[in-house]
Amino acid sequence: MIIIIGGGVTGLSTAFWLTRAGHPVTLIEKGIVGWEASGRNGGGCTHPYSPLFREEQRLWPQMDELLGHPTEWRPHRIKVALDEGQMERLRASAKIATDQGFRAEELDAKQLREFIPWVADDVHGGMFWHYGGHANPQRTSQAYAWAIERQGGRILQHTTALGLVQRGGKAVAVRTSAGEIGCDAVLLAAGPHTGVLAGQFGVRVPVAPARAEIMVTEPLPLLTHGGVDGNGIYGRQTLRGNLAYGGGPHEWLDLDGAATPRAGNTPVVASLARRLTEMFPRLGHVRVIRSWGGIIENTPDGRPILDRLTDPENVTIASMSSIGFGLSPAVGRALSQLILEGACDFADLSQLKLARFGNLPRDWRARQGWVPA
Ligand SMILES: Cc1cc2nc3c(=O)[nH]c(=O)nc-3n(C[C@H](O)[C@H](O)[C@H](O)COP(=O)(O)OP(=O)(O)OC[C@H]3O[C@@H](n4cnc5c(N)ncnc54)[C@H](O)[C@@H]3O)c2cc1C
Repeated sequence: MIIIIGGGVTGLSTAFWLTRAGHPVTLIEKGIVGWEASGRNGGGCTHPYSPLFREEQRLWPQMDELLGHPTEWRPHRIKVALDEGQMERLRASAKIATDQGFRAEELDAKQLREFIPWVADDVHGGMFWHYGGHANPQRTSQAYAWAIERQGGRILQHTTALGLVQRGGKAVAVRTSAGEIGCDAVLLAAGPHTGVLAGQFGVRVPVAPARAEIMVTEPLPLLTHGGVDGNGIYGRQTLRGNLAYGGGPHEWLDLDGAATPRAGNTPVVASLARRLTEMFPRLGHVRVIRSWGGIIENTPDGRPILDRLTDPENVTIASMSSIGFGLSPAVGRALSQLILEGACDFADLSQLKLARFGNLPRDWRARQGWVPA
């Protein structure tokens, strides 16, 4: 039995790949699946700087069929630049993908307006990325869960993992609020809570929680490509036509404060609305109808931690550091291999090992300014 702690997209995707291959899995979620960051994010699936980028791009077009339920995945990204500085940053970002064989083309103001009628007539320019995409986080989380159950996996919601029972350098059971469950292997993928749980068995996983927000407008006519980013914000158009946008700043939290994401009409939402209107000046009249907060798990260098431990040797750790939704199909497949074989055969994950933080000072959050205000 493989026990997965955490019913966000990281744990769900891993459970999906494991059950697809016929392995017995129990997933333990303290609330309901996808309730935290995994169901609350921007839906972006474009991570060229990850060693799992190629697999992310390969898998997303197949996910609806593999899962048997719609994720609302749509391909491509359109990027808007309001000045030459923003354009330069887009070129640098695109180069990371084009160096790997993907295609990106620059758009002048007229070409950009053909895709997005809401930009200003004199908009600086933009890019069309023939890669990347976006999907609906809630539908994707639910699709993973239904697929796991269809494939024979067990999902225990409203069940909290409390710690591990170890014997002979291995985890032999997980202690939960519903009792002990015996196991052959464990994946710890508890988002911002991963550090606390790992600390209980003496493994230091540095993760700082931060609150981020998404705002949603009333529905608008559908664009041909609903994934448009720029001016420091990212987002997507839903199939109903709403624009759902996020994009900092982070509000650093203690883990206690990270327990219940709050919604609200906050300064971040006001900032998102301002930046959206700067990017799409013709939408100044459009109403914001909804917003929500979610908690992002941040590692010190902003890169995920994907590692199978040596002690206990059957425990694998996963923390995605703010890019976990888009990468989830690929990450789950990689983690299933780490759990079963101890190595991933389709990507080099050496740079994502926990050991890179071996010399991290205790006060790293304070040094990086990542502390609650
Ligand atoms: C506003 C916002 C926008 C974002 N935008 C994007 C984006 O556009 N693209 C992208 O790729 N990523 C984005 N992200 C980041 C992405 O959402 C996360 O990286 C990803 O969802 C992490 O998934 P996870 O499964 O690792 O963690 P989580 O989604 O945090 O799931 C962990 C789960 O573990 C459970 N848990 C915790 N402790 C326990 C316990 N003791 N026992 C049992 N269960 C436990 C929690 O309840 C939770 O459900 C965004 C995040 C936010 C908040």
